[in-house]
Amino acid sequence: MTKLIGNGILITRNIENPIINDGCVAISANKIIDYGITSEMKRKYANCEFYDVKGKIIMPGLINTHNHIYSAMARGMVLNDAKVSKNFTQVLENLWWRLDRGLGLIEIKYSAYTTYIDCIKNGVTTVFDHHASAGQVTGSLFTIAEVAKELGVRTSLCYEVSDRDGIENTDLGIKENVDFIEYAKEQNNDMIKAMFGLHASFTLSDETLEKCVNAANNTGFHVHVAEGTKDLEDSQEKYNKRVVERLFDMKILGVNTIAVHCIHVDNHELDIIKSTDSIVVHNPESNMGNAVGCSDVLSMMQKDILVGLGTDGYTTDMFESLKVANIIHKHEHRDPSVAWKEAPQMLLDNNATICSRFFEEPLGIIEKDALADIIVVDYTPPTPMNENNINSHILFGFSGRNVVSTIINGQYVMKDRVVLTADENEIYHKSQSVAKDFWERV
Ligand SMILES: [Zn+2]
Repeated sequence: MTKLIGNGILITRNIENPIINDGCVAISANKIIDYGITSEMKRKYANCEFYDVKGKIIMPGLINTHNHIYSAMARGMVLNDAKVSKNFTQVLENLWWRLDRGLGLIEIKYSAYTTYIDCIKNGVTTVFDHHASAGQVTGSLFTIAEVAKELGVRTSLCYEVSDRDGIENTDLGIKENVDFIEYAKEQNNDMIKAMFGLHASFTLSDETLEKCVNAANNTGFHVHVAEGTKDLEDSQEKYNKRVVERLFDMKILGVNTIAVHCIHVDNHELDIIKSTDSIVVHNPESNMGNAVGCSDVLSMMQKDILVGLGTDGYTTDMFESLKVANIIHKHEHRDPSVAWKEAPQMLLDNNATICSRFFEEPLGIIEKDALADIIVVDYTPPTPMNENNINSHILFGFSGRNVVSTIINGQYVMKDRVVLTADENEIYHKSQSVAKDFWERV
């Protein structure tokens, strides 16, 4: 059955027709079948269900290319006995690795529920997640996938293999990836995908990386790269190579590999990333919060490296991440003229291009035959909005909380701020009690 979403300002991210005032999109099953001016579309598709957005913005759903669902239980958590973390390695040791060792399937399930619901409410329709739960590796990805399916969110999952919890745990992580990759292939649809997750060079031996390459069987890797200086120092000390050089030699890089962060990399490493056509994902808020430095994604994009935008679990609001991506480089370079073009490009164009390497059908664009992931944003331009200044309006005017309706794969998952695929209150209530027990344990 065809459904129309119209009477709004349509932002397509489609260069042929970037903006249509009084625009309308027609969807049928899980695809966009047409778009145009509302009055014409209503004539063409008479007697179809019509969602009148009353002048709001209609645009493609947002994509987050790096997130950590498992971090959800940390919000507001106080670790009384933890030492003060004065660098990124201590942040990992004192908080994240402690947290991930304590997670069981119930905590993973509720982390997935609350994070995906937050994504829906912020207009994020596709989530690339990178999961760790050393205390409960087996079944962790399947638990998250079940929740994604129930809520109707499009997602790509992987388990971060690491040697930090012993060799048995390493092997469990490899097996979880292999089993989940197999499962995702069997599903054979564009709602669930799998990557092979790796933590980072400094917690992975050569032997483990070799095992992973064999087990991955050409599935792309999702790995943190040179996030903190520790990753670089470790690689130089142990292998006499920089991180990207080591990962290249170990056959980790490639067109389906996401190299997250890439902060402490040199020009030669950028050339390797470019020559392998690997993907880089930038997470500006997380990088500032962990005080690890500013990734030189502007130089990467000048070299035509595909750079996307993620959040690293810091937020689920991609508009917030966009705002920080815009200012971090101005601050870093002491130059207010930079990053105007690149920040929106990462979120609104490159994340869609990244999806095209993993999903069969187009995402992040309003065009015929693209997957029907569409959001409605409550925004009235206070100044003229046209094809030349859309990005400025999005950058300064849009926020996740302005998203009123979210459609994924042709299904309304939120309409007028009400989540339709879950009982939001019940889930958040239960999540609080799960988190309370978890905090007491950890
Ligand atoms: Zn991360």
